Amino acid sequence: MTALPLKWGTSPVPWVAAWSPEASREAVYVRTETIGGNRLRFMCDGIDTPGEGRPVFKIMHLERSRHVVAHRLCQICCEPLPASSICMNQGEREGFHPLINDGLPMCEPCASLSIRHCPGLKRAAAAGRLHVFRASDWDLAPVILGPVPEAKGGCRRVNELLAKERGPVFGYVKLVLRRFSTISPDAIAEAA
Ligand SMILES: [Zn+2]
Repeated sequence: MTALPLKWGTSPVPWVAAWSPEASREAVYVRTETIGGNRLRFMCDGIDTPGEGRPVFKIMHLERSRHVVAHRLCQICCEPLPASSICMNQGEREGFHPLINDGLPMCEPCASLSIRHCPGLKRAAAAGRLHVFRASDWDLAPVILGPVPEAKGGCRRVNELLAKERGPVFGYVKLVLRRFSTISPDAIAEAA
């Protein structure tokens, strides 16, 4: 396997980010997986070729994003997470608790690298929108998929699979942080 983190120019590419051949969603299928002790039906991208094509930072690869969550791995370098790891969001909450979507847990060196190199994170930090957490405990919150019309960017194949299933089908897994503290983006950027 290629050394991690993957790079695009000078930017580290999260292991969970989709690459262009994967983002087409042409090979999707549904299977049962156990996550957080629950056996659920999950959508799979069906193609796993990180490093091929170009990275699509806004789309997470379904299987890899679930793999890091299920096995408590850093979303950037894929190494086991320390007891306390770094998560990020832009203020999303579930009640009083931070809700984490694509800012899945990272080891501190990877979080520092990301904040210094990722244009999106740098913009969010400069605008005061980036929230950074040091977290040690969270709940898993799998997201139920619903059909999205193709005219609104939905995928025909995904919609067909959802129509065939008798129960809910899940995609990504969000996290609800239970034990956490907030830290400044600058403190993490300087922690390198
Ligand atoms: Zn890492």
